[in-house]
Parts: sequence; C-alpha cells; structure tokens
Amino acid sequence: MKHLYLLAPILAILAIFAVYFLIQTNRRPVPHYEPKEEPEVIFDAEEYLRQLKRDHRPFGNRGVHRLLLKRTHQKAGVYLESLEPVMDSIGLEIVNVFHSVMGFEYVPVITSGNDWPYHKKTSKHYENKALDFRIKFLLPEEKKSVVELAKKKLEGRARVIWEKGEMEHLHVELLE
Ligand SMILES: [Zn+2]
Repeated sequence: MKHLYLLAPILAILAIFAVYFLIQTNRRPVPHYEPKEEPEVIFDAEEYLRQLKRDHRPFGNRGVHRLLLKRTHQKAGVYLESLEPVMDSIGLEIVNVFHSVMGFEYVPVITSGNDWPYHKKTSKHYENKALDFRIKFLLPEEKKSVVELAKKKLEGRARVIWEKGEMEHLHVELLE
C-alpha cells in the first residue's frame, strides 16, 4: 500500500499509450471516399428580388437560365450551359416544388445535367433535356411529397422519375 502514490503516474502513462494507440489505428491507410464539401448557400429572398429588378429586365432565355443557376446549387462538374431553355423553366418549377415542401430558404442541388458519363447512351441528359436533383438527404415523407408534387405539376410536359438506391435522386426529363 505504501506504493499507492505510483498508481496515478502509471495510469497517466497508460492513458497516453491508449491515445497513441488510437491515433495509430486511425492512421491505417483505409481507402476511403471523401465527399467534396459544398459551401452552404443561404438564399436571401429580398436580395434576390433586388437583383432581379436590377439585372434581369427584359427577362429572356438567358435570364431564366441565370435564375435557375441562382436558385439552385450545382454539384461540382455539373454542366448546364447548353440546357434547353424549356428545361430552365421546368427546373425552376422543380425549385418551386422543393420550396413548397421544404420552405423558401431551401436551395435544391442539381447533381447532373449534360455531364456524367454513366447515364445510359440514349439518356436525355446528353441532349440537354434532363436534370437530376438531390433528394437523398430529405426525410422519406419529404421525398414523397416532392416527387408527387413534381409529377403533378409537370404532367404532360416532363417525366419525373424517383431514382432509388445508392444513387438516389430525382430525374426530370423533357417529354416530346
Ligand atoms: Zn437523370
């Protein structure tokens, strides 16, 4: 019992070894995918309206396109510059659907336009007539509402598909 005073330093040394061991374990080269951080965009409705008044009159195709870019967030690498003008309007209607389900502050993310090389060959993405929107982080009931509302809104004009699985997203393509 007289060596009890040694207990504290021994415990301290053990704790240091434990931390060291944990750090080492974490250093193992585990292949691991680091998703790109997307800067958070806060949509300011009033600023947006001011800008709209200032810059976007008259409001042509390019104006609608800029509006879509402004009201969405685009995943890195997404190519929308040749998007069919009608898809800009359809995209904005989808934005509106997101707003009615998620609130006006919500900024939807476009995850694909004419860019990703793995869509099927005949995909409308390669004709600039399709857009993908991110829905995987929504709650199940929010996803359901977004899909249903989008389908209802775009009936006869665009096909809305809820792609499920690992690459879950909302696919919207022009009907011709
Ligand atoms: Zn798609």
